[in-house]
Amino acid sequence: MAKITLERVRHSYLENPESADDWALKQLDLVWSDGGAYALLGPSGCGKTTLLNVISGLLRPTEGRVLFDDRDVTGVASDRRDIAQVFQFPVVYDTMSVYDNLAFPLRNRRVPEKQVKQRVQEIARMLELQEVLGNRASGLTADGKQKISLGRGLVRSDVNVIMFDEPLTVIDPHLKWQLRSKLKELHQEVGATMIYVTHDQTEALTFADHVVVMHSGEVVQIGTPVELFEKPKHTFVGHFIGSPGMNLLPCKLIDGFPTFFGYRLETPEVVRPPAGGGRMEIGIRPEFIRFADDGLPVEIVKVDDVGRHRIVAVEHNSHAIKLVMPEEAPIPGERGYLAFERDKTNVYADGWIIT
Ligand code: ADP
Ligand code: MG
Repeated sequence: MAKITLERVRHSYLENPESADDWALKQLDLVWSDGGAYALLGPSGCGKTTLLNVISGLLRPTEGRVLFDDRDVTGVASDRRDIAQVFQFPVVYDTMSVYDNLAFPLRNRRVPEKQVKQRVQEIARMLELQEVLGNRASGLTADGKQKISLGRGLVRSDVNVIMFDEPLTVIDPHLKWQLRSKLKELHQEVGATMIYVTHDQTEALTFADHVVVMHSGEVVQIGTPVELFEKPKHTFVGHFIGSPGMNLLPCKLIDGFPTFFGYRLETPEVVRPPAGGGRMEIGIRPEFIRFADDGLPVEIVKVDDVGRHRIVAVEHNSHAIKLVMPEEAPIPGERGYLAFERDKTNVYADGWIIT
């Protein structure tokens, strides 16, 4: 196992990249520490698979270096990197039995049969494949095949990293839930560095200790689920994580405090305007706003009951704001006043938090 470092990595699929948009990976400096459980989260097309392929060696980056511990592996072929990669769609040998499929990565490394048997049975037990070990892989459903792919990814105990590229896409919802928790357990059991790619925030937050959020070829934040929730570094993170996402209110800085249509909000510290100026916004999550006796006057537009809590949509000067309220909390009828939790009120300039 190893620490993985990406040093000034950029990648373009084009011969002569010119504008920023020509780069699938714009510039990455990233360290994945040994044994970590990471999620790589971002919308489709943001560069997740490209990044995985750079780590695994399926793709040589246009610029920059990839290090496993202190060894430069940038030019090392994928099969010499000791990594396991599980793809979005199952990769199995149809003519082989389930057992032989799982055994394949080990036999390939000339692991003695006795150990192969032990390890295959262990993995089969974890993934509930014991009953079908003797069957041909071709007879299995898409779910079953993807479980084999997962098993093949997990079977070797000597890999530097195990990477999962949206592996639960083809799995039915019930099993998805089960496998997701299982992968988390497996990480604790195996202790290998794992990178789990997904565009689904719930999947990312359940699996990972650290979430790496990507947006159009850039990493916008690396943090624990709590950090991403409480202090999104970029408005994209605020909007992409959370349901509903973070509220964004256009503001002006007056005497070091953000004001929204003339109403001043309190922040933990005085906010200094960035040197270059930029578009200013207040970011506050719906969970950190409540109704009060005075504050920002709003009209109540809609109340949605979503089970454990309610989502209240309000407006000030035609600008929409959302609140998440506990079931039992009272909600005013037509009009009310909002109070904003000071410590959770962030200010952004051109999308980036001002600290
Ligand atoms: P994700 O996995 O986050 O959906 P990808 O890494 O697959 O994103 O893609 C990032 C960008 O690179 C996209 O704009 C995509 O169209 C482009 N891209 C991906 N693979 C190739 C390829 N083989 N050739 C050219 N462009 C590609
Ligand atoms: Mg992808």
